[in-house]
Amino acid sequence: MSLDEYSRKRDLEKTPEPAGERGVGAGGVYVIQKHDASRLHYDLRLECDGALLSWAVPKGPSLDPSQKRLAVRVEDHPLDYAGFEGVIPEGEYGGGVVMVWDRGTFENMADAPLREGLSAGHIEVRIAGEKLRGGWTLIQMKGRGEKNWLLIKKNDEFADREGDITASRPLSALTGRSLDEIKGEG
Ligand code: MN
Repeated sequence: MSLDEYSRKRDLEKTPEPAGERGVGAGGVYVIQKHDASRLHYDLRLECDGALLSWAVPKGPSLDPSQKRLAVRVEDHPLDYAGFEGVIPEGEYGGGVVMVWDRGTFENMADAPLREGLSAGHIEVRIAGEKLRGGWTLIQMKGRGEKNWLLIKKNDEFADREGDITASRPLSALTGRSLDEIKGEG
């Protein structure tokens, strides 16, 4: 895990985002940030070795196990990013509004360390968030570009084939604010 790419992409004099420094966490930080940038998407982040593994999920997560959601791996983020909610100025990398849409903890369900699951292209985690709960699988799409993964809900008691969690629970898990409210207040 390296935060070099994170730091290279950002001018910290111009963006309120956290500096690209490694942290020492208690382990198991989980967050999804709703990011209204050039295109609205959801950024899934899981703590691993002092940083946050990150995937951009264009459609957001689905609680329906039959729905495979594209999750594009992006640069690792600093641990402090999990608490970031605010506005990245226009013209800066990722310019737009960032909301802490869901947060909590996760457990690695595999016997091997998360880092090994990442290398193998298969990660299984149990999430304890405010909106997402239970088992989730991330599978790398081999042969279609290393960055492309699929995010899939496991078929357990937290699966839901009916609703749309992104539509029914649109507000911040941190502050209860909408994207517009964050935009207005910073
Ligand atoms: Mn993003």
